[in-house]
Order: sequence, then C-alpha cells, then structure tokens
Amino acid sequence: MAYVQNIEASSPGGVGAVAFTGSWPTISDGGTFSPTTSALITGPREAVLVDAQYLKRDVAELGDVIEGSGKRLTTIVITHGHADHYLGFAELLKRFPGARAVATPAVIEDLLASMPRQEQTWRNWFGDRHVAFAGAPDPLEGSTIDVDGFAVEIVDLKQADISPTTAAHVPELGLVVAGDAVYNEIHAMLALTTPEQWEGWIASVDAIEKLNPTFVVGGHKRPEATLDAQPQLDATRRYIRDYADTVATSESSDEAVARMVTLYPDYGNTWTLRISANAYFANRA
Ligand SMILES: [Zn+2]
Repeated sequence: MAYVQNIEASSPGGVGAVAFTGSWPTISDGGTFSPTTSALITGPREAVLVDAQYLKRDVAELGDVIEGSGKRLTTIVITHGHADHYLGFAELLKRFPGARAVATPAVIEDLLASMPRQEQTWRNWFGDRHVAFAGAPDPLEGSTIDVDGFAVEIVDLKQADISPTTAAHVPELGLVVAGDAVYNEIHAMLALTTPEQWEGWIASVDAIEKLNPTFVVGGHKRPEATLDAQPQLDATRRYIRDYADTVATSESSDEAVARMVTLYPDYGNTWTLRISANAYFANRA
C-alpha cells in the first residue's frame, strides 16, 4: 500500500503538494527495494507530477491520487534515469492523455543508455510486477514548468546516487522534490558511485539547502518519515560521511554493514546497505 502525505498551500488559491510513497517490495534475491516517492504539485486547477513509480499496483494507486485531486494533470517530470522513478510515466500518459512527460536532455540520454541493462535487472528483481519499459520522456524546454501561474523550477544537481540528476523546486511552497539526492530514514544507495562522487553528492545536498526549503521529498523514504527539510538534509550528509569513514576503516563488507547498522539502527532497507558495501569491497579487492 502506498502512503500519502499532504503539504497544504499557506494561502488559499496557492499551490499544494502530495508526497506519495510507493510500496516496499521484496525482490527475487530475498532482499527488499526501498520505497520510492513521487510528488503531485497542485494549483487551483492544474497538477504536475514529479516521478512516476514503477510497480503496477503503485502506478495504479498514484493514478487514483491524481484523479482524486480533481486537477488536470499537465506534466510528468522525471528527476533522473532510474527505472523506479520513471517507468510509470507511459502508463500514466495513457490514463491522462492530456499530459506530457519530460526530463532534461541529459537525463534522457542517460536513461536511454542504461535502459537495456536496467530492463534486465528489473525483470530479474520484480518479474511481471513492474510496468513495461516504454521509451523515454520528451526533452524539457527551458527549466520552468508552470502550474496555474506558479513555477516548478527544474534544477540540475551535480550528483546523487546517479548523475545526471535533477530536483524540482516549488518556491511558492518552500518545497524541493529531490530525487535520489536525499534519502529519508532509508539506507542510501552508494553502490553506483565512487568516494570522489560522494563529495559531489554532499555538495548537491548543500545546493538544495541553499534553496532554503521548508519541505523536502527525498527519492526514497520510510513511508511515515517527516517531510521537514532540515533533518533530511543533515541526515543525508551525515550518512554519506559516516558510510565513507566506515568502509574506509572496515576489513570486510560484513564489518561495514554491522557498523552502519549500529550507527543507524532505525534506518530501513538494509539490503541497499549490503549491496553498497559489497560493491565497495569488490572494487577494493
Ligand atoms: Zn531511486
């Protein structure tokens, strides 16, 4: 079951948002995949969706939330080229044919380049539970999407668990939908980046902080975790630094995992930590 949290507009007639956290599925190797978020940004009449889920049941539920908002979906924007964030867009376009799906040209290029590999991985992990791969969104022109006269600004970030990557900033609401630059009470995916790139990731969290957000929707979250910005930004930076120190001073993947679980006993999805640590020690060997 998905989990939905509301961010209310401070003024009547302003924008609001809904944070949608998808399910916490098992995968074929016995692990679990951390819950992935989407955000629906709503004005008086229109709506923009940021990230589109990937499991059939979550995409259907997200569609129900969009329909239930009573707003006209104009745009689906995809923050980065990981299938758990983009796969649902084509299904949603069938259900909301007036909408278009967009991403920055750099994200589209990366998404297409990694699609064959991701398609194989996704089939292995989720079987027929995910919606089918169906191409890429269209290139975003400019960097602003309009919702009833309010701006949703698409911001390039240097690095998250992937690069290129973007975030959606809604100044009217003090909201940043951060893609995978922010993890919220969930072990961060650090298997896909190098220690040098972790510095860039921390710099991207700093860049989000400079936007002075009140709310952040991190790309992966414990469903009931807070949307307050500062604790998430502080925790993401601290986690990356602790992870870097821990793997650098551990003898094995097992040791690193055990130490991180001790430091972060309440964090969800140890599977992600295990994958990250295994990759690190495989590279170091
Ligand atoms: Zn992700």
